[in-house]
Amino acid sequence: MNCRGLIDKLEQEKTLSFSEWVILLSSYSKADRLYAAGKAGMIAQKHYGKKVFIRGIVEFSNICSNDCFYCGIRKSNALLKCYNMSDELILECCRTGWENGIKTFVLQSGEAGKCNLMRLTGLIQQLKSRFSNCAVTLSLGELSFDEYKLLREAGADRYLLRHETANEAHYRQLHPDNMNLANRMECLYSLKKLGFQTGCGIMTGSPYQTPETLAEDMLFMHSLQPEMVGIGPFIPHKDTPFANFPAGSVELTLMLLSLCRIMLEKTLLPATTALGSLIPGGRTMGILAGANVIMPNLTPADVQKNYLLYNDKLSADKPVADAVGALSKELSAIGYEFDFGRGDFGGRIC
Ligand code: SAM
Repeated sequence: MNCRGLIDKLEQEKTLSFSEWVILLSSYSKADRLYAAGKAGMIAQKHYGKKVFIRGIVEFSNICSNDCFYCGIRKSNALLKCYNMSDELILECCRTGWENGIKTFVLQSGEAGKCNLMRLTGLIQQLKSRFSNCAVTLSLGELSFDEYKLLREAGADRYLLRHETANEAHYRQLHPDNMNLANRMECLYSLKKLGFQTGCGIMTGSPYQTPETLAEDMLFMHSLQPEMVGIGPFIPHKDTPFANFPAGSVELTLMLLSLCRIMLEKTLLPATTALGSLIPGGRTMGILAGANVIMPNLTPADVQKNYLLYNDKLSADKPVADAVGALSKELSAIGYEFDFGRGDFGGRIC
């Protein structure tokens, strides 16, 4: 079967075999990619209209106990200026987002485990009481089932935890020995079990990635049925062991966004900051490929510069209102607009 036949099959059956994924991912052309994007766009519109959900991300701490080889905030990066925003400042950032119509707050940080836990439960409760019916998404890394449970009970709605790769050997090439894929996957299943709208995901073009490892990612995502999928290009950071690897490609990122949309029809799919950092207009290209979420950064500009996961990260140097206005314009140029609702999976309120 040729690539178009495989894309048609994916649309009908919602999955492919391992070998079919490998054929598709190793031999698609630009025309095939656009064929997939056409289908993905129609599917996104069927479920969400020509609307894009808006989330405000607060990168509240860059302190991390992990040492992922690709990441600019890894613990061995001695050049990093560490920060941990106060609760007050986090709430102030969210207020600015709220005043600009944003109803989902994404709190992301490096892995500080238990240190973050108690303050996070308090913060979630504060957000929920100050900003009526807002949604809270967390992206704090790997915790135990009971810790996730505490966060869920405090009111958190969603959790993003990219699995990074579903292939064990590839996982080993991206991470030090004290991290393991089985635990990461276990975390994702725990989050699902606790009723979080759960997001997994990968970096496209991460070092040592192959069509075979990507095929495993697609099969894993099909079995997990995540409510969100984060897919953005790997971009090197100069102070990491992967400084000299090339960035992932825009084309592959767009193709994977489209294939995810076709496979997991209703999933919430961000057009990522990394895609926007790699190419001007990258986020609107992502929307046209089937993405339906954009996450403007609410972190203060002078703090954001220390949350450099990769070089040349798009930074929000303008006030939130201007950033939202500029993104709205970009969207309207392609016939889309922001949806200022909570933006739950499939319209579901949790
Ligand atoms: N500590 C949490 C975790 O691991 O899920 C959240 C923070 S972590 C920095 C968020 C994501 O950034 C990672 O899942 C990874 O995919 C992405 N990331 C890290 N380094 C990157 C790079 N060099 N290029 C693109 N994305 C990167």
